Amino acid sequence: MVRRVAIIGAGASGLASIKCCLEDGLEPTCFEQSEDIGGLWRYVGTADCGRTSVYRSVITNTSKEMSCFSDFPCPDNFPNFLPHHQLLEYFRMYAQHFGLLQHIRFQTTVRSVRKRPDFSTSGQWDVVTETKTGRESHIFDAVMVCTGRYQEPILPLASFPGIETRFRGRYLHSREYRDTEGFQGKRVLVVGLGNTGGDISVELSRVAAKVFISARSSTWVVSRISSHGFPLDMVTRTRLIHFLEWLLPSAIMKRIKFGKFNSWFNHTNYGLASVQSPKFNVIINEELPFCILSGTVVLKPTVKEFTESSAVFEDGTMENIDVVVFTTGYGFSFPFLEDSVRSLFQHSSSLYKSIFPPQLEKPTLAIVGLIQLMGSVMVGAEMQARWVTSVFAGFNKLPPISRMMEDISKKKKQLAKGPPEQVNTRMNFVSYMDDLASCTGVKPSLLWLLLTDPRLALAVFFGPCLPYQYRLRGRGRWSGARGAILTQRQRVLEPLRTRIVDDSLGGSTGSSRLGLLALPLLLLPPFLLSWRMLRPQAQL
Ligand code: FAD
Repeated sequence: MVRRVAIIGAGASGLASIKCCLEDGLEPTCFEQSEDIGGLWRYVGTADCGRTSVYRSVITNTSKEMSCFSDFPCPDNFPNFLPHHQLLEYFRMYAQHFGLLQHIRFQTTVRSVRKRPDFSTSGQWDVVTETKTGRESHIFDAVMVCTGRYQEPILPLASFPGIETRFRGRYLHSREYRDTEGFQGKRVLVVGLGNTGGDISVELSRVAAKVFISARSSTWVVSRISSHGFPLDMVTRTRLIHFLEWLLPSAIMKRIKFGKFNSWFNHTNYGLASVQSPKFNVIINEELPFCILSGTVVLKPTVKEFTESSAVFEDGTMENIDVVVFTTGYGFSFPFLEDSVRSLFQHSSSLYKSIFPPQLEKPTLAIVGLIQLMGSVMVGAEMQARWVTSVFAGFNKLPPISRMMEDISKKKKQLAKGPPEQVNTRMNFVSYMDDLASCTGVKPSLLWLLLTDPRLALAVFFGPCLPYQYRLRGRGRWSGARGAILTQRQRVLEPLRTRIVDDSLGGSTGSSRLGLLALPLLLLPPFLLSWRMLRPQAQL
């Protein structure tokens, strides 16, 4: 019987986990090594603070409506995409509203988590924590690990001959990057083109003499701003589009997507991506295309080697370089877990639904937030926490080990098989959320809604797949969920009403009235048409 739960980390995942424990009648104790909540979203100006923090200029790439906790919408007046300080403010409001802070022990690092000798019957864990005053031992019935997936910078120096031995310039991992200080007038090479690589290149282009990006694979660049100025994720993460993705062959969907991406600018002409390219990545950046167009950022292929003062690229070209910024990602590790447990999952795909190590005798250990989603990780982590605490509290059960192992090996095979072209193995947002919601018993029933509340049913199917959809039924049902779904447009537009423009002629009103619900429907015919007409285009 689980009662006392240890939660490690007080970032977005840890906060959601505390809340879910309380909701399910469990007793959470959260240990946070730093002095405050927020995890990597609590910006610090120095890189040597012992933890990962976002860079100063970062702005979320998932919108506030699609990133908020499912029963706590972001304030109406918050912008649609949040700078780090505002996201942290939102976390503080959430923690205060649900009384979470009193369950957190700050400046307390978890040093060890080991099965108790009677684990096979009790499922309990010995947890050792460390504070400035010394070490303390605790016994917990269950543990939720919420330490994030951005702990260990990956710096693949061995793949770059000469960088350590010959190159006289400076090199760093993006984890150390705070802002443009120290880059003024320099020739900078950014290695890797993910979201971070794009952000840093654009920012540096304003002060550096020149910025080069070395990209290995095709990268499609999309904007946060979609049709009619609505946030992209609200227009594209809908059940309708999810249904079409399921219905249409993946080759057709790919063509439709690439056609849409190329309708903004031709990615081949910009040296970013080609429809024929076997591997691709999608990043979000509004400014990068203009930086390329204006020559402040220059695309280059893979680096072959470094000389004393330059980088030599695979195409034989050479550029003088002062600083190299590696935006080559992060690895994760759980140094506090005993070896026999840690070895059960070297990769998140070895975890049942990316959460539970299936081989444990008792399901009392869960990893929350170790996911890569085509949507908000924060929303995914909250749904994970809801399912986990419902299992701990005995409201739901995990299937037998054999079924979990079967599910894992099926997923691994799917991953190995394809889609081979995808560089980033991000999971589909709606599929993953619906899967966990089914396990938790909170997946919205479209048929039931259609019969009882057609207006809401239409909003749920055609509108954005908002987190509130998972609070319409089941345990943890929130009475405000319906209202939050039907008023989302209001919260999107509210922060924009800082100057009221007369729209009596109806120019923009007509289209905006259609609102988010109709947008996916409007997009459907051009989508279907465009894939037929798609051809690699030669002109800009
Ligand atoms: P973290 O925020 O990393 O928190 C982990 C916490 O655990 C930290 O507070 C740490 O101090 C603590 N901890 C670690 N080890 C221990 C220990 N041994 N003992 C005690 N405490 C410990 N996601 C989105 O949904 N939308 C976005 O727009 C978005 N943009 C991003 C931009 C960047 C640049 C990055 C890097 C990530 C972005 N993400 C985004 C993903 C991000 O992972 C999530 O938003 C979210 O921050 C994950 O929270 P977390 O709690 O899982 O991890």
